[in-house]
Amino acid sequence: MIPLPEKPFLMLSSKVKVRSKEPYWLLRNGILNSYPTLRNDISCDILVVGGGITGALMAYQFSSEGYQTVVIDKRDIGMGSTCATTSMLQYELDVPLYRLTDMIGKKAATDVYRGGVDAINKLANILDNLNTRCGFSYKESLHFAYSVQDARAIRCEFECREQAGIKVKWLTKDQINSRYGVVCEGGILSETAASMDAYQLTHFLMDFAIKNLGLRVYDHVQLKSVKYKKDMNVVIADTSAKIECSCVVYATGYETHELLDNGTEIGDLISTYACISEPFATLPEGLTQTVFWNTQDPYFYFRTTSDNRLLIGGEDEDFQNPERRDKLIEKKELELVRKLNKTLPGFDFVADFSWAGTFGSTKDSLPYIGGHPDLPKSYFMLGFGGNGITFSIMGMEILSDAIAGRPNKFLEYFKFRR
Ligand SMILES: Cc1cc2nc3c(=O)[nH]c(=O)nc-3n(C[C@H](O)[C@H](O)[C@H](O)COP(=O)(O)OP(=O)(O)OC[C@H]3O[C@@H](n4cnc5c(N)ncnc54)[C@H](O)[C@@H]3O)c2cc1C
Repeated sequence: MIPLPEKPFLMLSSKVKVRSKEPYWLLRNGILNSYPTLRNDISCDILVVGGGITGALMAYQFSSEGYQTVVIDKRDIGMGSTCATTSMLQYELDVPLYRLTDMIGKKAATDVYRGGVDAINKLANILDNLNTRCGFSYKESLHFAYSVQDARAIRCEFECREQAGIKVKWLTKDQINSRYGVVCEGGILSETAASMDAYQLTHFLMDFAIKNLGLRVYDHVQLKSVKYKKDMNVVIADTSAKIECSCVVYATGYETHELLDNGTEIGDLISTYACISEPFATLPEGLTQTVFWNTQDPYFYFRTTSDNRLLIGGEDEDFQNPERRDKLIEKKELELVRKLNKTLPGFDFVADFSWAGTFGSTKDSLPYIGGHPDLPKSYFMLGFGGNGITFSIMGMEILSDAIAGRPNKFLEYFKFRR
């Protein structure tokens, strides 16, 4: 035994409910697959805790590499933030490249921005290889200025990204208005972005890896505590089953705040809101091929869906508790629709479903990916910040390298206590 006490984790699942009831993706897809629970003791190479989109990507990666991999989730698969996400895949962070450069240096900031572009292309390749779409479609991304002052700031950002070799164009307010009907003061059009159905992809990857790669997935199994031994970790679940594994990968989403000293070392929790329209008979092509977000703080964003709806979101505020967050859904829906009408006048948006979720933000908008300094053989994949899913895709290779002991520059950029 190494001299570390057994770590019993706090389980505050009633406190941080990561989303409101009935997010659209859950209603649309229903329960796609069922998985057994775990009653017996088992062993594996890698235990992935958390069966959301992050856990699914990790499980697919590790089982493809030949590791005996097990996933456990305390809920049904995909029922955390994953069924609430609006799934815009962007390389752009909440912190612009020029500011990130001041924070972490030019090379690291450029690597992170370019890494996001690569991640979107990587997911497209995976889906092609697996012959599936899961609602994925490549799009452009328009970051548009809310005010003349904002336009000046993002014009600087545009030049910085161009210098970094990222494929961007500057569009004037008139060009944006005639192309999309959006009212704004100009903006940055990025070539690489996408949208998808993360809930569907989560189930697809789990199912594929179970059938083809020997993955084992158990739901309604909660990690309760971990014993750290010399060559392995022993995870004790609430079902009393023990899982012996060479390492644990935590893909526990925003509830990781409950595992790591109430999250003080990883960042803040934010409440966010989304609303989806009734389907439109047709939507203009410019709108369907682009995801949009503006420069307001908090920012307002929208995109279309593969079933011809408009999805709008934003209205973020500090998370206090799930009850307060969910009580505000109606008020936030009205505000989101008001913003849409101002941004896209003449569009007859009829709200169909609205929901709320919680996400985590970090001091530099970067995720935490890699080993934890205090927990042996424990790796975290925390895609915090506005780009959670893009970071999770990047994390596939980063954690694969970390576990195999290979160097990876992102392990330095995304480490704990940076
Ligand atoms: C409204 C909304 C809009 C968003 N829009 C975007 C967007 O456009 N683009 C984007 O990139 N990101 C977006 N995000 C963020 C995105 O949803 C997250 O990055 C992503 O869903 C996180 O997936 P995950 O698998 O890490 O977490 P989750 O889906 O929450 O999965 C974590 C899983 O871990 C399980 N778990 C936790 N603790 C334990 C334990 N002790 N034992 C067993 N299981 C445990 C949970 O049950 C859960 O299923 C949005 C989020 C919200 C709420």
